Amino acid sequence: MTLQIACQDCDTVHRQDTRLWRCGCGGPLDVDFRGRIDAAMLRRRSRGMWRYREALPIGADARVVSFNEGFTPIVRMRIDGKPLTVKQENLFPTGSFKDRGASVLISRARELGVEKVVEDSSGNAGAAVAAYSAKAGIECEIYVPEATSPGKLAQIRLYGAKLIRVPGSREATAHAAMEAAERHFYASHVWNPFFFQGTKTYAFEIWEQLGFNAPDTLIVPTGHGTMLIGAFLGFRDLLENGLIDRLPRMIAVQAAGCAPLYRMWRDQLAELPPAPSGDTIAEGIAIAEPARASQILDIIRETGGRIIAVTDAEIERALLDICKQGLYAEPTSATAVAAFRKIPADRDECVVAPLTGHGLKSTEKMLKLTG
Ligand SMILES: *Cc1c(COP(=O)(O)O)cnc(C)c1O
Ligand SMILES: [Zn+2]
Repeated sequence: MTLQIACQDCDTVHRQDTRLWRCGCGGPLDVDFRGRIDAAMLRRRSRGMWRYREALPIGADARVVSFNEGFTPIVRMRIDGKPLTVKQENLFPTGSFKDRGASVLISRARELGVEKVVEDSSGNAGAAVAAYSAKAGIECEIYVPEATSPGKLAQIRLYGAKLIRVPGSREATAHAAMEAAERHFYASHVWNPFFFQGTKTYAFEIWEQLGFNAPDTLIVPTGHGTMLIGAFLGFRDLLENGLIDRLPRMIAVQAAGCAPLYRMWRDQLAELPPAPSGDTIAEGIAIAEPARASQILDIIRETGGRIIAVTDAEIERALLDICKQGLYAEPTSATAVAAFRKIPADRDECVVAPLTGHGLKSTEKMLKLTG
């Protein structure tokens, strides 16, 4: 298997077995690995994200850390009478799509012989990394902001990880983890490029579930962009394998309370605006300093997409619509449906949105909506 690990900013190529989480220049790393996908072979594979084995940059099968996850079901919803295809990423083993990334990232850690990982997150990535570390027998330490939903905290603890709650903003949590990363492997869903090699399976599954077609439009809740960037890499793999003939238009959604990417897009800023870690019920995407901002903006431009901000009132209304149709997702997930309301979609346009996380993770926030 040939892959290259290179810096996005200065193009330095790092050793294939590097444990660095970013380049010496401070830039984020990318895995340059062009996955192979063979539609005929898929018929003989079991229904999980590892069915796209040749597109995932892990060497020996024995290193793969997996719960046979993935191939989450799609379902059609109607929002204001308009059809929306929803992919139920809330049905993963740990209750969010972060399992896609964690499965590949922790497989990579095992391949490198790592014994202990550290990670920081607003909750779901931490839960996913903790679960896959438990499966792999790797020691795990997770840093979370103090205000994280109790359901996510319980989950991280019970998977056997050491949980460290950091007072202050999401960024304060990231800085605490980066300090620990000087001594231990940083299994960061934001910085480690192998995480995105896992989230790209989201694209492969959509393509297969739509009868081997790309949708016209993808709507993705976006903070650090782990699903957005992954989906882009996945559809690019499909394009390069000659399996689709164009990329879907990608629409990123941010919560108005914390929307640095939206402001960059709207005001054509070259740098991230100084944004307070704003208040929003969409805790999963409240990221004031996304590490891969310019990559996200490039993807939006390249695919002819846009960035939309939605208010908490719009998110709550969308969440009630989701629940009334029998689906249960956490508030962050509802941003995609709220954004769908704001795009003029024509009748036969195929729009896909994910339910990124399970509603049971944030019961105390959900209870507030019951009035
Ligand atoms: C992680 C996450 C997202 C997407 O966040 P990114 O920071 O862009 O990766 C969306 N919804 C939920 C529930 C999440 O956990
Ligand atoms: Zn560099």
